[in-house]
Amino acid sequence: MVAFAGTAQEKVIRSPVVSTEKLEYVENFPDFQRKTNTEKTSVYSYIVSTILTTSEPINQYIQMWIEKEINQFIHDVEKNNPNDTEQHPAQLHISVEIYGVTDEIYSLIFTVKNKETNRQDVMKIFNLDLLNHKILSLTDIFNLDHANVEGFRSIVKEQMSVQDENSLKEWLEKSLKQPNQLNWQIDQTSFHLLSDAPENHILVEIPVEKLSPYLTNDIMNRLQIHFTDDPANSLHPDGKYIALTFDDGPSPSVTPQILETLKQYSAKATFFMVGSRVLSYPELALQVAGEGHEIGNHTGNHSNLSKLSEEQIRQEIIGSSQVIESIIGESPTFFRPPYGVYNPSVEKVALEHNSPIILWSVDSLDWKNRKAENVHQLVKENIAPGAIVLLHDIHQSTADALPILMAELSNEGYQFVTVSELLSLQGISGIGPYYGVSY
Ligand code: ZN
Repeated sequence: MVAFAGTAQEKVIRSPVVSTEKLEYVENFPDFQRKTNTEKTSVYSYIVSTILTTSEPINQYIQMWIEKEINQFIHDVEKNNPNDTEQHPAQLHISVEIYGVTDEIYSLIFTVKNKETNRQDVMKIFNLDLLNHKILSLTDIFNLDHANVEGFRSIVKEQMSVQDENSLKEWLEKSLKQPNQLNWQIDQTSFHLLSDAPENHILVEIPVEKLSPYLTNDIMNRLQIHFTDDPANSLHPDGKYIALTFDDGPSPSVTPQILETLKQYSAKATFFMVGSRVLSYPELALQVAGEGHEIGNHTGNHSNLSKLSEEQIRQEIIGSSQVIESIIGESPTFFRPPYGVYNPSVEKVALEHNSPIILWSVDSLDWKNRKAENVHQLVKENIAPGAIVLLHDIHQSTADALPILMAELSNEGYQFVTVSELLSLQGISGIGPYYGVSY
């Protein structure tokens, strides 16, 4: 065994036999240069390439990362007994590709290959913002606040292929905790997520339209992505639209099943939630909102408001609204009184709070019958374009009825929208009460 403390040993490793630096023109990117450094000693060699951009701060940042990789490599070599490797010097190879997104945004894709040390090959993507002299992080392109992260995650999951679902799920859970460690790329049409292992990278490709609710305005402008801001703008005035509404939840056993069915039809619905239940199941409320559904207020405790004083009514409505806002980050758009019961005091408080009262035109009676066939039949008999359908996401029978009901309605040409979309389509505004259309 050779003792490793001696300076002579260190010198052997560190003194380069050959060291070169080469600058080259980068094909298709005349403003940039490819810089390749090589170094060879008796125990290791490396070839490291990078691309020099027009931004000095960015170049420095990437240079720091490269030096860290080289130092780590040399450290690993030193840790192994260098005498053992003398015949086969350890090798580090860092290569880079460049991808232009706009005149100011570029991706540098590095591959780090590390032979004869125990480290895995690694892929690392830097997304460069030459205008602002910075490396873009995931949070520069997405608003991933508390309310959004669930929706973002569910869109990513939706795009995965089935066979890698588990590994991707694991990887994503881990990665979303440190979004800046994630390898990603974006352009005008799609967003890619990649793992950091180049040979079996997991790749998720998501069309940017799907992610548009989460994209920051800055990145939308810079990529020149244009979507209609108001979803109702893309609805056809003569379309057969209905609003499914789900009251009394969220419920941990039923709500997720309903979300799953809605997702299969790319349907958006409105959930009138009870404040106390939102407090009990905040993640579920967040998930509903994150998947693009509308959240309505169904009071704090599901009280019959006609039996309360005006002040109590105020507490039931405004208290619940505050609970919902504190959890999903937005106050509920509409208000639905429990049992559909309201009086002038309720209307007064709703007006004060600018919460339109939404009732329904089709009652599934799911709360009463608790049979999937009955729910299905009643809705089918009474449905008409413009209908608001009353359902409850707390009964298993409702979750059971939904797949067939939605399949049939969708075969008949119905499309499922939120209450906001339905009302804006019909040019309705004001405090209501509003019932929707029935057959
Ligand atoms: Zn209710």
